[in-house]
Amino acid sequence: MTESSPEILAPRPASVGGVTVARVLPRRTRRHVGPWCFVDVMGPSTLTPDHGLDVGPHPHIGLQTVTWLFEGAVRHRDSLGSDQIIRPGQLNLMTAGRGVSHAEETRDTHRGRLHGVQMWIAQPAATRDGLPAFEHHGDLPRISVEDAEVTVMIGSMLDATSPARRDTDHMGAEIRLGSRAVTVPLRPDFEHGLLVIDEGVTLDGRPLASTGLVILEPGRDEAVLHAPARTRVLVLGGEPWNDELVMWWNYVAADRGTIERAHEEWTARHPRFGSVPSTLPSVDVEGPPWDRPPGDAR
Ligand code: MN
Repeated sequence: MTESSPEILAPRPASVGGVTVARVLPRRTRRHVGPWCFVDVMGPSTLTPDHGLDVGPHPHIGLQTVTWLFEGAVRHRDSLGSDQIIRPGQLNLMTAGRGVSHAEETRDTHRGRLHGVQMWIAQPAATRDGLPAFEHHGDLPRISVEDAEVTVMIGSMLDATSPARRDTDHMGAEIRLGSRAVTVPLRPDFEHGLLVIDEGVTLDGRPLASTGLVILEPGRDEAVLHAPARTRVLVLGGEPWNDELVMWWNYVAADRGTIERAHEEWTARHPRFGSVPSTLPSVDVEGPPWDRPPGDAR
């Protein structure tokens, strides 16, 4: 396993709500790592009085959104009535189920540096059509390993378990590297992605060819990480995902028809998606690009 260089999904620039993001997942060649199906790194950016991260109300189905910040603050509001400012080291976890809408804003909340990630976790068939929910976790388990600090966002690592909701067997943790190499334990039955944001990180003693999402196939029980400077790496893992999934815009579903119906209902402001008390305009886009096959009954 350590003989060959790992696959690395290098970041591609995209724009979200006025801020440049680096998208590392999904890729045509890799749709997910366990249930993790979307990974965007936001910033680092400097927000000014007239330039922030402001994403108006928009819908989701079939996934959980995970917001995690390294620097700055973002205000989350959703159709369940949640109104929560998130700060570094805290977890915002919104479960979309059959439908939710939310807005993410920095105006009136934060100016200055913003750096973090937004990620999605695909929901399994058992909960995909269930009720939406929102959780904020301000106090997550934090463990020291050698001179690194591990925060368990979701699932378990090193005998510590996050209280965050999980609909499948998966995990996410932030490692703040110290000055020495650290051995990160991995579950051999999981596939993992190491989200490496800064240059100069080594894996098992060898420099990584680029930043991005480093893919570790199942069968590994550890990864040795080192960086010359203090830096952060996110570890995302889960059982290999075998369900067929369709992802389009902000929706994850088992089939295209479910996405088409959700999008028609969002566009018509169906009560399924509720409403968000945001002064930002709601986000609308053209329907999905595929043609429904003839005779496809709903
Ligand atoms: Mn969203």
